[in-house]
Amino acid sequence: MTTNGLNSLRVNEIFKSIQGESTYAGIPCVFVRLTGCNLRCSYCDTTYAYEEGIDMSVNEIVKEIEGYDCKNVCITGGEPLLQKNVYKLINLLKTKSYKIFVETNGALNINLLPGNIIRIMDVKCPDSGMNKEMDWRNLERLRGDDEVKFVLSSKKDYEWAKRIVRKHNLPDKTNVLFGSAYGKLKPKSLAGWILKDRLNVRLQLQLQRIIWPDKTRGV
Ligand code: SF4
Repeated sequence: MTTNGLNSLRVNEIFKSIQGESTYAGIPCVFVRLTGCNLRCSYCDTTYAYEEGIDMSVNEIVKEIEGYDCKNVCITGGEPLLQKNVYKLINLLKTKSYKIFVETNGALNINLLPGNIIRIMDVKCPDSGMNKEMDWRNLERLRGDDEVKFVLSSKKDYEWAKRIVRKHNLPDKTNVLFGSAYGKLKPKSLAGWILKDRLNVRLQLQLQRIIWPDKTRGV
């Protein structure tokens, strides 16, 4: 876990955009992307967040968020749970009545996060190369208002994810999202498999890639 100053976090970027993923896709949202990740997924599209960033105090981050005049905040990365001061940021945002989303890669204990926030957790599939890094106890920690996301690169990944979903009865417990790794698996193929198998999951497209296909940052 990264240790920042008493009240600071290493921040890669802060921007306002449209939430591109999850069941909240389409809503305006301020994104706080924190620096650093403990994984190296094969399809990672935020490699620039591994190292780049500046130190900002929790108060400075909140002040910048307030400047966007938007009550939805998504804390993402990298892997945001690596920085212990993320909890201070979340708690301060809660006192200001923000709706808070945290995107996490599934390799760290999600129960360290406080209640009353939306946890969007990845389950890393085999083709990500990071499957063995998962904290599998997280599947038992999921709540009804959380979201669990599988990013699939192949039919093999799909078959694997289908087994996990059925084995753990995930659709009965939480929101289940299936998305395709950009450029590796066609959404049309994924949609066909979901329908054929009568799988009770939600297909998600990355809206930000459809709206801004030429932008790789700040969306
Ligand atoms: S967990 Fe996310 S940020 Fe980290 S390597 Fe994987 S895709 Fe990239």
